[in-house]
Amino acid sequence: MSYIPTNHKEVIKRGWTGLDVIFVSGDAYIDHPAFGVPLLARLLESHGFRVGIIAQPDWRSKEAFMTLGRPKLFFAVSAGAMDSMVAHYTPARKLRHDDAYSPGNRRGARPNRATMVYTSRLKEAFKDLPVIIGGIEASLRRFAHYDFWENKVRRSILFDAKADLLIYGMAERAILEVAERMRNGELIGNIRDVRGTAYNAATIGIGPALTVPSFEEISTSKENFAEAFRLEYLEQNPFSGRAIVQKHGNRMLICNPPSLPLEEPEIDAVYALPFEKSPHPSYSEPITAWEQIKTSITSHRGCFGGCAFCAITMHQGKIIQSRSKSSILAEVTSLTRKAWFKGSISDIGGPTANMYGLNCANTVAMKACQRESCLFPAICPNLNTSDKSAVSLLREVRSLSGVKHSAVSSGVRYDLLEKQNSYFSELTAHHVSGRLKIAPEHLVDHVTDIMRKPGRKLFESFCARFREQSYRIGKRQYIVPYLISGHPGCTLDDMFELAVALKKMGIKVEQVQDFTPTPGTIASCMFYSGLDPMSGKSVYSAVTDREKGLQKSLLLWHLPAERSKAMVALKELGRERDAGLLWGNENRDKNVSKKCFES
Ligand code: SF4
Repeated sequence: MSYIPTNHKEVIKRGWTGLDVIFVSGDAYIDHPAFGVPLLARLLESHGFRVGIIAQPDWRSKEAFMTLGRPKLFFAVSAGAMDSMVAHYTPARKLRHDDAYSPGNRRGARPNRATMVYTSRLKEAFKDLPVIIGGIEASLRRFAHYDFWENKVRRSILFDAKADLLIYGMAERAILEVAERMRNGELIGNIRDVRGTAYNAATIGIGPALTVPSFEEISTSKENFAEAFRLEYLEQNPFSGRAIVQKHGNRMLICNPPSLPLEEPEIDAVYALPFEKSPHPSYSEPITAWEQIKTSITSHRGCFGGCAFCAITMHQGKIIQSRSKSSILAEVTSLTRKAWFKGSISDIGGPTANMYGLNCANTVAMKACQRESCLFPAICPNLNTSDKSAVSLLREVRSLSGVKHSAVSSGVRYDLLEKQNSYFSELTAHHVSGRLKIAPEHLVDHVTDIMRKPGRKLFESFCARFREQSYRIGKRQYIVPYLISGHPGCTLDDMFELAVALKKMGIKVEQVQDFTPTPGTIASCMFYSGLDPMSGKSVYSAVTDREKGLQKSLLLWHLPAERSKAMVALKELGRERDAGLLWGNENRDKNVSKKCFES
């Protein structure tokens, strides 16, 4: 058993006298490729760097940051797999009571704005040592951005954290290049040309760059805010995106173009690193995040769906990076040898499961493409939608010895499934596990248009297709629809229309995602600026906690605890007389979906 060292004893055990790079993470250390810090630590280790991890240090003093000594090259800081404010607060800004990334599910193991706090403690402890920040929190806050929790525009996190360099997106290429150049004697202050990095400079001094409205300009004008976001978003194509410059006072944020996607052998090599696939043995309590992913397999990265509320375009990117089938099968085989493996794979997927193996068939167009989505408003004719690779992968995984069942629990895009008959058949026949998660997110067309999602018609036809197929193969299985309340573009009226439509289909949802304007999404830009950054059109948003709460209650009308709130919503709409559409029986379409949804 060989984990990355987390204390002095483990460093000595490796025969080392010191470390080159130390990661500081807001999450517990789980040696699994689903988590960014262990993945990057293993990658650097495989290139001969001596690496350590300090997981969830006590941030109240600098001592906890000194336990592994002074690294020769740099500290690498990540708040963890989630932005620390999202991890700590509900969409209503209430403190969460648990933390899936901490032992015992206990909250309080990392501070708010962990990237900034950790960097500051490290600078106290080791004044002149470089600190590089990365992970979701740093990545999505790399430009000046709207912060929902303070309800204001904040500077780039690079300026607030006072870090030496920021790595955004999937960091393998960037961190390896920076570490190798520093190992060869280059100073971090001279490393200014690495893709996927951003830095603070007094002058521009680089090649072709795009200047976007400054921090000061976007703080005082919502039009400027939306325009800066639009420009930043459109430059995310790694093949044609330019460096972006954003002034902050008399300094500049310089953000280099995104890293190039990993080629198949490169991504395979990352997943072949010697992960233990379990939490560091020092933990005595269960860690929920590990329980959730320990039998799941990542088949690819990236998503070309371009949903407005999702930050994947700004982090992983739109280009799908798929592992080879043999790499995935090797991982599943090694999983079947784990003592705790009982025969079930909980997921084979990525951000969107049915995008495995897909790409743009027109390389020239792809390299210049600035479309937000390859699927919306209609599937791009250049998109290769073949399900051959994905089908073959599913078939071979389930035929492996030791695998009793394999599920696909990542989301699937049902507009894309329209073109993937074989994948749809495989999925429904073998990989649903009783409940298929589908994310229409809303069913009112002008809202789904703003979300960049397929609308109601396609959802209904998908449900019918799923129902017929399940019936034909003799399986009792259901669709679990995921929905968002309070999304920009959605009024209380729209929410009532959605609730009535769901009632008609026989759907009662147990959970609703209340929209949270997290950094890096088109929808968050709409929420703050009131504008769709791509069209410039005005967009309504429910901004008060009260209205957001009323919207949510309309979807949960059938729960006793929500009934009075839902009635308030109806009163506000002047539609109390329509309460029967929800609580009465007259609206149920007896021909629709009885066999498709649990209710
Ligand atoms: S050209 Fe079409 S398929 Fe290719 S990346 Fe652009 S939107 Fe996607």
